[in-house]
Amino acid sequence: MLYNVERLITIVMCCLIASESGAQDTLRKAMPLQPAMTEDWTPVADVTPGWFTNPPSDAIVLFDGNNTSEWISRKDSTTISWKIVDRALRVSRGGGHIVTRKLFGDCQLHIEWRVPQEHYSNPMKKGNSGILFQDRYEIQILDSYKHNTYTNAIAGSVYKQARPLVNPARRPNEWNVFDIIYTAPRFNESGSLFSPARVTLLYNGVLVQNNTEIAGSTTYSGLPVYTHHGKASLQLQDHDSAVEFRNIWIREL
Ligand code: MG
Repeated sequence: MLYNVERLITIVMCCLIASESGAQDTLRKAMPLQPAMTEDWTPVADVTPGWFTNPPSDAIVLFDGNNTSEWISRKDSTTISWKIVDRALRVSRGGGHIVTRKLFGDCQLHIEWRVPQEHYSNPMKKGNSGILFQDRYEIQILDSYKHNTYTNAIAGSVYKQARPLVNPARRPNEWNVFDIIYTAPRFNESGSLFSPARVTLLYNGVLVQNNTEIAGSTTYSGLPVYTHHGKASLQLQDHDSAVEFRNIWIREL
């Protein structure tokens, strides 16, 4: 925040007086704060807001329905085998995970997805995919309409760590929308964790993760751990289900 120096000194003096006396009245009488003293004039960039499916003007469009050039195979960095079908990007079953060419840290992500109608007895096989921030921390995608599986693995969960606050899942073959605010973990110079990653998720417009702390990598077996890393790709998971994605855009924060 850009306070001017004079105002800052005034605020600090007031705080000192208040802490010494412990009395709010003393503070007000000694140095009353004028409204302007707490005004923050740091410029805020003008951004044209999105309208329905259009991304905002400062977003990086990761998939617009026409080409997959922002994505590569996670396995060998080659062209992805996932296909565009009716302007949606469909998982190629067995084709492997895909990752962005560009690396990201803190970000805001918009992504729309839908799962096919599948009839497996194992609910974890129905419409399973996922979005992995920094190639490590998964927000689950799954057919979760009237689900019957463990709730820290339904759509909108931080996989195996944090179930969504509620379940606003739509039926299979209907489009869902995730709007996600992701804060990357910070590490000390030694490589140890300074602060964990955090995530806020609006799922079909409903808050389901509220600044949730991510405990570490989201693994199927074992406990989450953190290992030092920098910016990394966003990953979309091939979990052997023909999940589709559209309107994917991201803003770096
Ligand atoms: Mg998954």
